[in-house]
Amino acid sequence: MNRPIPLTVVADSGESLYAAQPKIYPREIDGRFARRRIAAVFVLLGLFYLLPWMRWDGHQAVLFDLPARKFYVFGLTFWPQDFFWLACLLVIAAITLFFFTALAGRLWCGYACPQTVWTEVFLWIERFCEGRRNQRIKLDGGRWTREKILRKSAKQFLWITLSAWTGFTFVGFFTPILDLGQAVTTFSFGGWEGFWIVFYGFATYGNAGYMREQVCKYMCPYARFQSAMFDRDTLVISYDVARGEPRGHRKRGVASVLASLPLIRPPGTFSPSSSDGEKDQGTFGVPPKNVLGDCIACDACVQVCPTGIDIRDGLQIECIACAACIDACDSVMDKMDYPRGLIRYTTESRLAGMSRRILRPRTAIYATILGALLAAFIWGISHRAALIVDVLHDRNALYREMSDGGIENGYTVKLVNKTDQTQQLRIALEDDQATLRIVGKTHVVVEAGQVANIPLTLHADRADIKGRRRVELLVRNDDDSIHVEHKSEFFAPEDK
Ligand code: SF4
Ligand code: SF4
Repeated sequence: MNRPIPLTVVADSGESLYAAQPKIYPREIDGRFARRRIAAVFVLLGLFYLLPWMRWDGHQAVLFDLPARKFYVFGLTFWPQDFFWLACLLVIAAITLFFFTALAGRLWCGYACPQTVWTEVFLWIERFCEGRRNQRIKLDGGRWTREKILRKSAKQFLWITLSAWTGFTFVGFFTPILDLGQAVTTFSFGGWEGFWIVFYGFATYGNAGYMREQVCKYMCPYARFQSAMFDRDTLVISYDVARGEPRGHRKRGVASVLASLPLIRPPGTFSPSSSDGEKDQGTFGVPPKNVLGDCIACDACVQVCPTGIDIRDGLQIECIACAACIDACDSVMDKMDYPRGLIRYTTESRLAGMSRRILRPRTAIYATILGALLAAFIWGISHRAALIVDVLHDRNALYREMSDGGIENGYTVKLVNKTDQTQQLRIALEDDQATLRIVGKTHVVVEAGQVANIPLTLHADRADIKGRRRVELLVRNDDDSIHVEHKSEFFAPEDK
């Protein structure tokens, strides 16, 4: 039976339904996870900015040359015919993401996502120009003075320069970057190149400079569907409610609540004991009444959060797992002389006092698919044909009857040399085709990476062939390292 859904009609007050987001000023924090994130930024951005300038086998090391329809990736050349392998590579990337998400949560978001990485660099620039968190809040709230104009202008100059360089580098993956650099310096680049440099530069500037956490909260589709890959054993960043609550301010020197909790399970009894990167502290019972938990309500974890959330409210979709709150809380715990790990990488199972299972159906299935795809990809890439041969029969005439009584069929042989060397190739008929012979040129030179279309004629005496005949052409180089057979048809008149 259909039940009506109760509706409440709200009078239009004329107010916008859009709630403006207050600007977030994440506090800078040092710690082991911050250092890992910085290392990830250097490695990933280093690769992005340097790869187009690297050369490999006489080409740009990574170049997706769309006009020439050839992709160069570290000595491998992908042709349109290899599109399958590129699609396979994308599938592998997707399954890898699924696998690591099921295993370790939002690792991608916290350390490798372009949004995270560029936002981090834009924040460094902001701190360099406008100072630490409190100084930035004060500067934004203050009047427009000469100092404010200078600081803001310096930030904008550095942001725009970095964005423009990012747009240029991005296009450099699709157009040879040396040519592009020359074209940019002389203002002679093409319309599309100009459009993409500006578009990608603007996207970097807007997303990393202004949108920041809003991209993760409202625009990123991955943030929406990744929870489908989580289970009780997925590594997440979590606040230990049992240990932290009730929270409250206190002076230094008050002992950690851990010391007064009944120990239900001794430390180090999980196997593996530190699979979530934290020392297993055992499982404790509920704190006695009127005893404060270990959270000193300093809000350091909230102030460092780039998405402005409070991890103590539980796992939230806005959390990008950057681990800044772990570093912040650990430093507070150190100052209080409390054990670290009030906020830590852990799993739902562990928080419930159970052990963590790394191998489970979900991770096993992802790992199996990933392993099979990787093996198929490596085998396929290493066994790709060095030469593509395609033989097209003449479409205008099935056969020609010659004055000497012979029959001729015309073909176009398309040869794609996928190697990086010039190839001297010979076209021949298979041995059992004695009734046919090739008329004209059989020796062909095809430059590295080039396509050659060779006209070819096959001749037969009329008495030898009636109707349709299967023919096999052989294309090989001198040392027979390239050896490709291709089948086609030869047509002759039927008997009357
Ligand atoms: S940083 Fe740690 S101690 Fe401070 S409020 Fe957050 S959870 Fe509590
Ligand atoms: S709560 Fe905030 S600081 Fe902590 S991991 Fe999530 S996004 Fe980072």
